[in-house]
Amino acid sequence: MKRSDILFRLLEEDESRLDQLWAEADRVRKERVGDEVHLRGLIELSNYCRRDCLYCGIRASRRIERYRMSEDEVMDSARLAVRLEYGTVVLQSGEDHGLTRDFITRLVRRIKTETGLAVTLSLGERSLDELAEWRAAGAERYLLKHETSDPDLFRRIHPDCGTEVSDRIALLKAAKEMGYEAGSGVMVGIPGQSYESLARDIMLFRDLDLEMIGCGPFVPHPQTPLGQAVIPSEPRAGARFLDSSDSLEMTERGESRNLSAGSQVPATDLMTTKVVALTRLVCPEANIPSTTALATVNKEHGRELGLTRGANVWMPNLTPLKYRALYEIYPGKATVIDTAEQFHQNLLATLAALGRRAGKGPGGRRSPRVGRD
Ligand code: SF4
Repeated sequence: MKRSDILFRLLEEDESRLDQLWAEADRVRKERVGDEVHLRGLIELSNYCRRDCLYCGIRASRRIERYRMSEDEVMDSARLAVRLEYGTVVLQSGEDHGLTRDFITRLVRRIKTETGLAVTLSLGERSLDELAEWRAAGAERYLLKHETSDPDLFRRIHPDCGTEVSDRIALLKAAKEMGYEAGSGVMVGIPGQSYESLARDIMLFRDLDLEMIGCGPFVPHPQTPLGQAVIPSEPRAGARFLDSSDSLEMTERGESRNLSAGSQVPATDLMTTKVVALTRLVCPEANIPSTTALATVNKEHGRELGLTRGANVWMPNLTPLKYRALYEIYPGKATVIDTAEQFHQNLLATLAALGRRAGKGPGGRRSPRVGRD
């Protein structure tokens, strides 16, 4: 699929053509990765973060109660994952250098030897030496969302730490060279994000040959600079970033559009599932989660919409209840009323209603490149 095709389908508003997109994504998902939904047990092991991203509820400058889970607490959560028959745990945190290289190495070794689970690390931008050591200890996957491929937009909402300059794409490439399965993803509807930019994000998923790709709507925490800014929730025609050649190309295809490639992308469930569906078409064998952020903007049906429009992964939260509310990167994210066991029962019922089943084992996948233009 060419970038102009992706762009055209991102701008699609006709319901019957959107239904075709959902059906196509679901068919490719079924053919290429099957009906299994891989379950990754999420353990949010620390809410310390040295960064100050403009939208995030656990950014460094917020005065909130901070926590770090102990080694034994993490192991208890990992054993819970085994009892619930999940094949993978995801160790996620803010960018917390208090989680030392040795601590993570020990944790990875213990999880591998005591549970046999696959280990995904999602610890932010860490050094190449650390990544190499954790890979040698047995970690299989590294997850680092690049959030947007537009470097200016990235820098505007993710201030650098001192003189360090972020280069998440380079880090993902390095992780792949070390033998990790690499995961990344974007936020949909960042203020200033254009359709053109989002189409490039989807092309980049393919170029990076990612094994995991997570896309969620942009949901700022209200107590942050972007949470207090006025952000349009609906598409806004003719905003900045206009690319006249793309508008012309679409006109030549006989379609009239109020929107253009340069319009602001809305942070909605509809737009997010367009991205999920197109990602499935462009990277047919990738593991794609139906994200918590999607389930937050559409509490009733968000999870199901993701799973029926291309997604094949669910990441249930195994963080102890006493910590979950403190990992509030945006409001409404933490399901503090359900224990992991209660949530698991609901999850199984949801999958059964969709005609899907919980995957067994680690659920890793290599994604060969397809159809380059
Ligand atoms: S988005 Fe990630 S890196 Fe940025 S402040 Fe939040 S936890 Fe830290």
